[in-house]
Amino acid sequence: MSQKECPSCGIEIDKEHTVCPICQYEFPIKSKFNIKIIAVILIILFLYPLIRLFVNLISR
Ligand SMILES: [Zn+2]
Repeated sequence: MSQKECPSCGIEIDKEHTVCPICQYEFPIKSKFNIKIIAVILIILFLYPLIRLFVNLISR
């Protein structure tokens, strides 16, 4: 079983806990899925003006 340390009170708790049972510290939820979605959205937002510019240049 893997454990993690609570940054607030320093106690070792089970890694699956999202809230510290001692001090109620809420651990930030680390989700690779969310990070990927944010990355894709940022890439699309960044690339969209470039793609439109590129399409405009071609269609001239
Ligand atoms: Zn704690």
